[in-house]
Amino acid sequence: MTSNFYSPVVGRLTPYVPGEQPKISNLVKLNTNENPYPPSPRVIAAITQAAQQGLQLYPDPESTALRQAIAAQHGLAEQHVFLGNGSDEVLAHAFFAFFQQGCPLLLPDISYSFYKVYCGLYGIEAQLVPLADDLRLQVADYARADGQRVAGVVIANPNAPTGIGLPLADIEQLLQLHPHRVVLVDEAYVDFGGQSALTLIARYPNLLVVHTLSKSRSLAGLRIGYACGQAHLIDALERVKNSFNSYPLDRLAIAGGVAAFEDQAYFAQTCQAVMNSREGLILALEDLGFAVLPSQANFVFARHPAHDAAGLATDLRARGVLVRHFKQARIDQYLRISVGTPAQCDQLIQALADVLQLRG
Ligand code: PMP
Repeated sequence: MTSNFYSPVVGRLTPYVPGEQPKISNLVKLNTNENPYPPSPRVIAAITQAAQQGLQLYPDPESTALRQAIAAQHGLAEQHVFLGNGSDEVLAHAFFAFFQQGCPLLLPDISYSFYKVYCGLYGIEAQLVPLADDLRLQVADYARADGQRVAGVVIANPNAPTGIGLPLADIEQLLQLHPHRVVLVDEAYVDFGGQSALTLIARYPNLLVVHTLSKSRSLAGLRIGYACGQAHLIDALERVKNSFNSYPLDRLAIAGGVAAFEDQAYFAQTCQAVMNSREGLILALEDLGFAVLPSQANFVFARHPAHDAAGLATDLRARGVLVRHFKQARIDQYLRISVGTPAQCDQLIQALADVLQLRG
């Protein structure tokens, strides 16, 4: 649809398409990389309490309590943390703040597809850097000849949808390749076994690390994301945010987020449970003939040499199991499967075994 009422750019946008959030209950939902475990009971208690007092008032525009909790968690100062309504919003502000430079932004060809959407929204040219044949990122591919300007670099680590993690030494090399541009490392999945670049912030003024509470802290429904970097980068994000929405986090989100960081034991235990299930899931998929990429995330990326991935996804859905399939060159024979509880993983494997047997 288009209309004369639209600003010209609106008709040219290619919006992001989120994974299905089904209205039917009882599905085994392994398609959007949510945590299969609920948030800490302390989060629920804090939200309940926050709901009983002060909802008639605006929230703290700086989300100070949560910024302090996050800074303390990562051994950073409060002015090194920026909060947003989900990491998608944090990413959007970062693209606006740092990458509208009139030259191309470097991104892997296979990565979180929202990055290209932000480029479209803000008129940023995306230069897609192909991953190697094994879908690994090769840092040398991000080097550019002198005089060839780039707007910056954005990667997800671990990458999505592959799950493959990049060692810290490679991140450092990326930072050194483009010292005058922001290198954004999206660590949405890092708590499931990846190496975080947060430890590099003090040494690299061009590093911005983005995290979310949607995955490892089981709070996809609350919408909290954050960026960590040196104060000059955080200040730029604050300028953009305060030109857009003064109150991106509501009172319930701030209270719940603080409580999530207070319950480190629960966090560690649920992350470990997901990682344990992941290893079992990989073995079970391999037993069914799938080739599975090594994963440091809460999902696996798997392909069957003898069966079309789109067909498998449809057959699984008919059996009440949702997984994600991307109709995209190079990865259209893969399924991205979120790691569920052991019972959900068993249901997936059982359904897949049935589907494969019927297909012969
Ligand atoms: N980055 C990556 C790599 C993701 O997969 C996602 C989840 N779709 C996000 C960021 C956004 O997460 P959220 O907005 O829930 O924080």
